[in-house]
Amino acid sequence: MDDYRDILSFTIEELEKYITDAGYPAFRARQIYEWLHRKLVSDWDEMTNVPKKLRELLSGDYYILPLCIKEKLTSVIDVTSKYLMASYDGGIIESVAMKYSYGMSVCISSQIGCRMGCRFCASTLLGLERNLTASEMLSQVYNIQRDTGVRVDNIVIMGIGEPFDNYDEVLKFIRMVTDADGLNISQRNITVSTCGLADRIYDFADEELAVTLAISLHAPDDAIRKTIMPVAGRYSIDEIMEACRYFIKKTGRRVTFEYTLIDGVNDSTECAAGLVSLLRGMLCHVNLIALNSVKERDCRSSAIQNIKCFEKYLQKNKINATIRRGMGKDIDAACGQLRKRYLNSSGK
Ligand code: SF4
Repeated sequence: MDDYRDILSFTIEELEKYITDAGYPAFRARQIYEWLHRKLVSDWDEMTNVPKKLRELLSGDYYILPLCIKEKLTSVIDVTSKYLMASYDGGIIESVAMKYSYGMSVCISSQIGCRMGCRFCASTLLGLERNLTASEMLSQVYNIQRDTGVRVDNIVIMGIGEPFDNYDEVLKFIRMVTDADGLNISQRNITVSTCGLADRIYDFADEELAVTLAISLHAPDDAIRKTIMPVAGRYSIDEIMEACRYFIKKTGRRVTFEYTLIDGVNDSTECAAGLVSLLRGMLCHVNLIALNSVKERDCRSSAIQNIKCFEKYLQKNKINATIRRGMGKDIDAACGQLRKRYLNSSGK
């Protein structure tokens, strides 16, 4: 891996420097960038308008696919496919593709593992292995578009990992995937989900991107949150709300709050009332989620009737709320579950 380098991580400027240093005109860089990031080729020989000698030079120095697809599971009950992808150093991550009537939505991972320790999540069971590079995030999107033959329109950075724990590479990924010379995905069609690293929410607001911010809240107060999310010991809900208000002021964009309902933990009427007082008057939307249970964890989902009552309570109190459609229930739907099963079966 050390001798072999990752061409997808190059910005157009970096590629131009490499090409001109090698004695070729700068316009070749733009051609190559387009093959890599717009036409999504996986082989140097597909770059038919690039001179053979230059292709040979590049293929000796670089690889095109930072991640390869190891396994794909397609749900028989809905439109979800889950991918296991492997990195050059043996890391395993998950990505999910969902085909909707309005287009293809992809959920990508930002780290190999996670160190945030949320009690209901399989992705954190083995801790954090390493951050993903921007090109490894691009590669998840490109692999899925190549595999399905359908253009990706929406990206949610909500898979394995905490995106703001890998801030610089996530930002580089957003800039590259929205680049007009690349896949040119609208910033408005990208969502970044954080468990609430408040300092980074301020930084992200200052980037002034038109990207949606989602907060994994899952509790109306710190006491409950601390029982399911260790990060609550670092940032209080008040600090997170303050950062969200700053984000809304800076970007004018609505914040999404993710709220997974866990039986007997955060699904009571008092919790719904707490959430109403927390979010009243805020430009926001609440996504209510039925928990996908993880075998190693003791959390169970609330009954669907409970989730509907919770939703009604919020709506009655003028909080925008919807229940997120459960997807891929037959294919290890919980984030990190498929990876965990794969690693267990390969003896890791
Ligand atoms: S829910 Fe997100 S932040 Fe929490 S452990 Fe899982 S991947 Fe990490």
